[in-house]
Amino acid sequence: MDYLPVFLRLDSRPVVVVGGGAVALRKVNWLLKAGAQVTVVAPELHAELAALQARGALTHLDAEFSAAQLANAVAVVAATSQRTVNAEVSWAARERRIPVNVVDDAEHSTFIFPAIIERSPVLVAVSSAGHAPLLARRVRAQIEALLPARLGALARFMGAHRRRVQRSLGALARRALWERVVSGPVASRVLGGDAAGAERALARELAAAQLTAVGPHGAPALGEVYLIGAGPGDADLLTLRALQLLQQADVVLYDRLVSPQVLERARRDAERIFVGKESGERGQQERIHELLVALARAGRRVARLKGGDPFVFGRGGEEIEVLAAHEIPYTVVPGITAALGAAASAALPLTHRRLAHSVTFVSGHHSEGALPDWRFYANPLHTVVFYMGVAQLPGIVARLRAAGAAGSHPAAVIERATLPQQRIVRGPLARIAELAAAARVEPPALLIVGAVARFAAAQMLGAVAAAAPAQQSGALA
Ligand code: SAH
Repeated sequence: MDYLPVFLRLDSRPVVVVGGGAVALRKVNWLLKAGAQVTVVAPELHAELAALQARGALTHLDAEFSAAQLANAVAVVAATSQRTVNAEVSWAARERRIPVNVVDDAEHSTFIFPAIIERSPVLVAVSSAGHAPLLARRVRAQIEALLPARLGALARFMGAHRRRVQRSLGALARRALWERVVSGPVASRVLGGDAAGAERALARELAAAQLTAVGPHGAPALGEVYLIGAGPGDADLLTLRALQLLQQADVVLYDRLVSPQVLERARRDAERIFVGKESGERGQQERIHELLVALARAGRRVARLKGGDPFVFGRGGEEIEVLAAHEIPYTVVPGITAALGAAASAALPLTHRRLAHSVTFVSGHHSEGALPDWRFYANPLHTVVFYMGVAQLPGIVARLRAAGAAGSHPAAVIERATLPQQRIVRGPLARIAELAAAARVEPPALLIVGAVARFAAAQMLGAVAAAAPAQQSGALA
């Protein structure tokens, strides 16, 4: 280990920065965040440093460097563009045993700045000991994606309740409680921005912990449910919160639309339960409700993964009703619904200044519908996305035609959107059912109808035809 990572308290302590350019500015900003009393030694100042000086945030010494300037400093940073000056600063500081950092020059430094992730009061510092700063920054970016934005708020919340917990529980129970707090309903509430909910969840946890401490028959602490939108398939389209909660769930309930790529992102040792509804199977939704309640009651953290978004044709509404009725805490994490995923990967804008001012998501299961609705869908300057419509394609087309849509009305069918097997079939409304049947399109697929369908598919054809000609079918109108 070349360096000892430590966190230095600089509050109100004098630090000297030699150099007044953009590099110095970056270091000055960190030093000011840590509350240091910064003096910048430089004949010229970067505009932002000058602004900081004007606000009284730092002191400017308009001079060349001289060793006497280090008199009271507890740390020194050399950030000039001249190697000789930097070396001189380093030498003067070391002679006075003041820690010194020469930016991007580990050899002349006695301390180095790490790559920093700030979720104050939580801090993560990453260093490659000067060997590969770029790699350190990359590691930082990877860790950063895993850390919730409100992690600092969670730390403050725990700090604020420390005494109360200390008073009510013994050391062992306390530890167990904090373990549950950081990775259970309390944390989910704080990280979701629900302060009042967090207080209530903590009160519940405390009560449960006190019961458990009394004897082995105490009620087990309550689990929770994360209703997570898994997106259309491509795992990179998961939200950061979805990833974070998938990493902490003990059990994952998933259905058929959840891609294996997404499922792989769950914690390795999490139990995975398939709860897909095979068509015609009755009572499956009720079984899912029972399972969610039973698992949460047993103290498990349950991720309920749903394709796309849980609240778009996902029956997420019914599941939270059941959870609420049983007073089980839950968190809903939105996902990219299939229409948005398909539109993006087919380069098909759902709205467009000239071609579509509105968009409707319709379930293809209910293709009977009222005629006025269908007149609205038949307007070519409106985009309609039919979910679950593959089997009903001819019926949907007939309905649209009866409501006045022209046979030449543009349409596109997108199968397995965002996945490597994605296929796009497009053509005029009059032929789309026949074209999709010829291409043997299978669920999951979407039908998109409206002027934008033609516009975007034309762009798409070039790109996809070049990459995978065999995957294209449909009229090239
Ligand atoms: N909650 C989901 C929709 C569930 S309904 C969401 O928000 O996307 C199931 C229908 O969604 C399928 O029949 C299909 O029409 C559509 N669908 C889901 N994933 C899809 C994908 N990758 N490509 C095309 N359509 C998809």
